[in-house]
Amino acid sequence: MAAAAQPAQLQTSASAVQEVREITRIERIGAHSHIRGLGLDDGLNARQTSHGMVGQLHARRSAGLILEMIREGKIAGRAVLIAGQPGTGKTAIAMGMAQALGQDTPFTAIAGSEIYSLEMSKTEALTQAFRKSIGVRIKEETEIIEGEVVEVQIDRPATASGAKVGKLTLKTTEMETIYDLGQKMIESLTKEKVQAGDVVTIDKASGRISRLGRSFTRARDYDATGGQTKFVQCPEGELQKRKEVVHTVTLHEIDVINSRTQGFLALFSGDTGEIKTEVRDQINSKVAEWREEGKAEIVPGVLFVDEVHMLDIECFSFLNRALESDMAPVLIMATNRGITRIRGTNYQSPHGIPIDLLDRLLIIATHPYKESEVKQILKIRCEEEDVEMSEDALTVLTKIGMETSLRYAIQLITTANLVCRKRKGLEVAVEDVKRVYSLFLDERRSEEYLKEYQQEFMFNQIGPVARDEG
Ligand code: ATP
Repeated sequence: MAAAAQPAQLQTSASAVQEVREITRIERIGAHSHIRGLGLDDGLNARQTSHGMVGQLHARRSAGLILEMIREGKIAGRAVLIAGQPGTGKTAIAMGMAQALGQDTPFTAIAGSEIYSLEMSKTEALTQAFRKSIGVRIKEETEIIEGEVVEVQIDRPATASGAKVGKLTLKTTEMETIYDLGQKMIESLTKEKVQAGDVVTIDKASGRISRLGRSFTRARDYDATGGQTKFVQCPEGELQKRKEVVHTVTLHEIDVINSRTQGFLALFSGDTGEIKTEVRDQINSKVAEWREEGKAEIVPGVLFVDEVHMLDIECFSFLNRALESDMAPVLIMATNRGITRIRGTNYQSPHGIPIDLLDRLLIIATHPYKESEVKQILKIRCEEEDVEMSEDALTVLTKIGMETSLRYAIQLITTANLVCRKRKGLEVAVEDVKRVYSLFLDERRSEEYLKEYQQEFMFNQIGPVARDEG
């Protein structure tokens, strides 16, 4: 029978899942690898340059407040929109938030266009993204190991002396018996650091647990199956606790493991397919049960949807609804669009987002950078890419960044460095920057070039090009 049909068999395969997470965390030098956090001080004020972040102080402070909200983990289903011109650090801020949250808080980043595929419906793709952003922190206690002796109380005055506090010594060879007696008992027992030969007395009246030491090892002749057996929960902190192992897995990982015969292997192949609603329902109720029993807690994470204007009206309506669930993550969206058409409709709306969704968003605006900030960002990128650049070259590159775009200037760093190495130079000089500037066109020069030579290209269109189409 499939594991999915048996909630009691829900698996988490935490160690395997952790491996997957570690592998996906390995990063090459990417566009945002210089970002190490939001660069805020204790009062949540943004430092001008910190954690690889430069300027954009208001937006970073706002992001810091959101971060606090996420950390407290109390408010589910909040949605934030980071809006601003291209290259103003929207994605960088979201990455800064991910870094600041740390590895234990799930952070999923997708681009709006990623939800369109032939393999699954748009809403399934969004649901998976949502559930990848919800962590379940599961506490696992270590099992009793071979040779250990534990003692439990039985609820009948069966001793010759008539004492009410009975003792029963169980060895691990009798584990089945313990399991038969009840899973709850195991939990309370394995919390204790009980070693081979130890005898533990649980006082029925006070519930106190005391240890009698190793001298008393003889098993008393109580019959655990014969009488009414009752177990006393160990009062917290009475005995030294065993190390608790805590795993954080995402709801999506639990879904996948329980919905496929190949289990967690589907996580490696990414071939998760659509997951049945019944499986998710079962998992939700199981997780709710674990929460009640104190075995697990929910870690609401972040779902970051970049280029959110690529979503269509159906997706927006889905998001509106999904945000109402108490297991919803914090949704952060980013867009560089102004007033534009909502995909799937003929209506225009700010950022291409329907008004009813916009109404529930906290909006963070980003603004273009000053020259000194562009210079600082370029300097940080040079360090990140291990490029030595002369002060003059950096100034020229900054000017280029101001006139074209920050992204274009960032692209020139490595290419200029290659040119520099070819001429056996030690640091990138102005001539190297000029050389790559002439080799690679920025967007404006590319457009001018096209206008000049458009007759020679295929499918050229006369008239202005619509730039803000969703
Ligand atoms: P788009 O609207 O085109 O998606 P964006 O606003 O998301 O743009 P980013 O991709 O975040 O822009 O920024 C472009 C590059 O500049 C990235 O490499 C990013 O890491 C870097 N960058 C942007 N702002 C900052 C900043 N304040 N501090 C450090 N690096 C930044």
